[in-house]
Amino acid sequence: MHKRLFIPGPVDVLPEVLNQMTRPMIGHRTKDASALQGSIADKMRKLMYTENEILLSTSSGSGLMEGAVRSCTRTRAAVFSIGAFGDRWYKMATANGVPADIFRSELGQPTTAAQVEEVLSTGKYDLITITHNETATGVANNLEELAPIINKYPDVVFCVDAVSSLGGHKIEADKHGIDILITSSQKCLGLPPGLAVCSISEKAVKAAEQVPNRGLYFDLLELYKFVKEKPHQYPSTPSLALMYALDYQLDRFMEEGLEARFARHSMMAAKVQKWAVENFELFANPNYLSQTVTCISNTKGIDVSALNKKLAEHNYMISNGYGKIKDKTFRIAHMADTTPEQIDELLTCIDKVLPEL
Ligand SMILES: *Cc1c(COP(=O)(O)O)cnc(C)c1O
Repeated sequence: MHKRLFIPGPVDVLPEVLNQMTRPMIGHRTKDASALQGSIADKMRKLMYTENEILLSTSSGSGLMEGAVRSCTRTRAAVFSIGAFGDRWYKMATANGVPADIFRSELGQPTTAAQVEEVLSTGKYDLITITHNETATGVANNLEELAPIINKYPDVVFCVDAVSSLGGHKIEADKHGIDILITSSQKCLGLPPGLAVCSISEKAVKAAEQVPNRGLYFDLLELYKFVKEKPHQYPSTPSLALMYALDYQLDRFMEEGLEARFARHSMMAAKVQKWAVENFELFANPNYLSQTVTCISNTKGIDVSALNKKLAEHNYMISNGYGKIKDKTFRIAHMADTTPEQIDELLTCIDKVLPEL
């Protein structure tokens, strides 16, 4: 029996979306393949609120995160971390020999405008990375606060990890001057894992042109040139099956309406947050709560794996903590095509089984 996933990726995929992946293959150098990429790019621009070019990568989101920091850092990257995924972005920089410094916030807290101002005003950095939504802690950074500071430094390439939020939070790339906005298929987009997506600005492309060693598979400039010049193709064979599913899924987004989709996420988040406050405590700063995943402090010291075993009997699965707070927290994801009714059912089920633990 399938367990419904309330973990922050991979998420459940609707059967009709999964079905798209069984369509017959086409050649990746055909007009049909170009049309598919072009169609995805047009819809993705709407979802990202941008006019910039859209690149796909047959990898998980980490591929484009590594590609961004390696391809576009000319002198030094400032990596702001609010948890496990920011820490990983720093590792990606150093593992590639990219000069970088990491600026951490206390776990559960956001990156602050004052922190960013202090770091960028040194003039040492020409690329900045921000985790929009830290899946380990349930903190969503506020781009309204951070972007105006970052935009004061026009030479700095602004990269955002929105892997666990794009599609659930409204993120307006052009309004915030985001040069590279990254997400992947298996979280808020509601698809199987294996495809990453980013937007890329002309500024980021110009920066990449000045970087001699960008690698190859995740070289954003190489990807950009193929999409622009071929046009709408990729240097190597992309996951056409996932592209079919993504194209179809983006039509579903537009049918639901983007604002309605974000509102549904906000409603689901409010339900889980209310439950968390009544039964445990929220781990994150309450002014910076994620709309897609809630991290709950395990104040009652319950056995989370025992809870998950009980939930499995009802075909549900939630998530334990991640990284440094693995044993102190647990997480409930409310993203993609999950409905508020399914959240109600899950919470009712947890209430029922908690006394049995
Ligand atoms: C899941 C996640 C990643 C890693 O993405 P993959 O697609 O697994 O490579 C990066 N950042 C955040 C915030 C995530 O939630």
